[in-house]
Amino acid sequence: MDKVLKLRPEVRAKLCTPNKIIEVNFPVRRDNGQTENFTGFRVQFNNSLGPYKGGIRFHPDVNLAEVKALAAWMAIKTAVASLPFGGGKGGVIVNPKSLSTKELERLSRAYARAIANDIGPYLDVPAPDVGTTAQIMRWMAEEYIKKSKVPPKARLAKGGKSQKSKVLATFTGKPLDFGGSEGREEATGAGGLYVLTKLAQMLHVPCSMFKVAIQGFGNAGYFFAVLAQKAGFKIIAVSDSTGGALMEKGDWKMEDVLRHKRKTGSVAGFPRSTPITNDQLLITNCDVLIPAALENVIDKNNASRIKAKVILELANGPITPEADLILEKKKVIVVPDVLANCGGVTVSYFEWRQNIINKHWPKDVVLKKLKTKITAAFTDVWKLSREKKLSLRSAAYVFAIQRITKQS
Ligand code: NAD
Repeated sequence: MDKVLKLRPEVRAKLCTPNKIIEVNFPVRRDNGQTENFTGFRVQFNNSLGPYKGGIRFHPDVNLAEVKALAAWMAIKTAVASLPFGGGKGGVIVNPKSLSTKELERLSRAYARAIANDIGPYLDVPAPDVGTTAQIMRWMAEEYIKKSKVPPKARLAKGGKSQKSKVLATFTGKPLDFGGSEGREEATGAGGLYVLTKLAQMLHVPCSMFKVAIQGFGNAGYFFAVLAQKAGFKIIAVSDSTGGALMEKGDWKMEDVLRHKRKTGSVAGFPRSTPITNDQLLITNCDVLIPAALENVIDKNNASRIKAKVILELANGPITPEADLILEKKKVIVVPDVLANCGGVTVSYFEWRQNIINKHWPKDVVLKKLKTKITAAFTDVWKLSREKKLSLRSAAYVFAIQRITKQS
């Protein structure tokens, strides 16, 4: 990668350092009347390509080092997807499950007020992440609107509606009735599917020839499973945190598996399926493996036993660096997270864009735009990887860093 990029030391140093680190401490009133202080962060890593973009995480283990790393990752992801955004990330050290709804609302609003001077539609655009939701984005956006310069009367005056819509663009991942975008729910799964479909085309293999195993049946994994099955891929195994189910023939419907999970609490035990563990799923006899749950699940202990020829990283960081080297030697094609799961941030960009131009696009339009954008991103990275003889991961990073440094 270094040989291709040939970065000057000062450029390299700039790429390794965030532009701005914001740390805020703010009081929140608990339901028992006592006040507790909370600490939050917003790291604005790089904005060479546009406003900082990245989620806000509510988790007890949030720390500055993690937020910095995640902000850098976002800068790469938005650049790979050719979005007019940079990278940022935020977080609050809190276990959201330990708060009542009212406390969660007060905390979200207080954090939004604390960072309000540093965010905005053309400055920094946060979104949901682990522990935060569309409703939390609504509370934060409401608070930002109160603190921003939009006078309440402007909403009634000529052009006021579009001014309000633009201010709403400060947050993405909002509820649909509050400036959110159609298609956000399935965006990550759909994006992953468009990438896999293009890869199948590059390899001249029909989708129906691919046997697919998916770890994780949440937002990313479930929508990927439903859409991939509709597109003709053969889903032979799925799992969640409680275990997995194998169906060699693939003659099951993912919607039925979800119904079974809702009824029993697990995908395991689906009628006619064979139970498997998550560890077995990873090394099962399939063509495509989709880690869509946790980080570091493919490591030096199981990488050599993986039978899939393609791994599409829907989860963030599911493969450790040691495992990556083993897989590269085995000539497994790994589609890296920054490319495979950038459907989510791409539809976030569409939400931002719709707010800026005060429009609401139907779902089919959003998904069509997503397909065009993500297929182009995959094609660019694929070509670069062939030209420079790089893995797709290295090619994605080279592509992103070249875009960022051209604008720096
Ligand atoms: P989610 O919480 O909706 O679902 C997670 C799934 O993983 C659940 O089915 C859960 O049961 C399963 N799981 C948890 N622990 C497991 C274990 N030990 N073994 C197997 N399965 C386990 O989360 P999500 O939004 O689908 O995110 C999944 C991954 O995708 C994360 O790495 C996330 O960062 C990444 N991602 C998601 C999006 C998005 O838009 N949702 C976007 C980009 C990246």
